[in-house]
Amino acid sequence: MNKGLLIVVSGPSGTGKGTVCAELLAQMPELAYSISATTRKPREGEVDGKNYYFLDRDRFEEMIQEGGFLEYAEVYGNYYGTPLGKIQERREEGKDVLLEIDTQGALKVMDKCPDGLFIFLVPPSLSELERRIRGRGSETEASLARRLGAARQEIAVGRRYHYVVVNDTVKQAVRRIQSIMAAEHCRVSNNIDKFEELEHDESK
Ligand code: 5GP
Repeated sequence: MNKGLLIVVSGPSGTGKGTVCAELLAQMPELAYSISATTRKPREGEVDGKNYYFLDRDRFEEMIQEGGFLEYAEVYGNYYGTPLGKIQERREEGKDVLLEIDTQGALKVMDKCPDGLFIFLVPPSLSELERRIRGRGSETEASLARRLGAARQEIAVGRRYHYVVVNDTVKQAVRRIQSIMAAEHCRVSNNIDKFEELEHDESK
């Protein structure tokens, strides 16, 4: 059996990664989502153990010491991290695993998991990005300015990813990511087992 893909999706805050990933998961129930841990407070409607594991700083730092994260980063004054958890196990079972993390974390995963599939989601324009962040209504002017400044820096890092997907509409962005995943599943290096099976096939 082929190992599942490790799919890393990042993009500037406000691009709509959360919505795109949620729709991808809704359409692909076989896709495993890696739930991150964070020290930031839950937003309205967010559920512990579903959107994030919401931890206090002490517990998060304890987990860092225990080596419990594949990667972690401090983003806008809060910790965010990917628990090692079941990622490898799921991939060995042939399941694809989705990580939605920031660029700092993704760069660390690039080093640790060079076989990962790195997808960078971008907004159609920076003014559209600002409009989307304002629409979320959870930011002060200061934190909005901070997020827009960070977005410019993050976009530059996007050049290191394998694919870039414009999030003009959620439907189109999801379709593009599904196409990328389908192509990855057909990559020769992900199908070595298939070659061995065919080469040793004695039936004809
Ligand atoms: P938010 O507070 O809007 O949910 O997320 C803020 C940023 O943290 C986003 O760019 C999000 O992708 C990133 N993030 C979420 N989970 C993780 C994680 O496990 N690791 C890292 N490095 N970043 C994360």
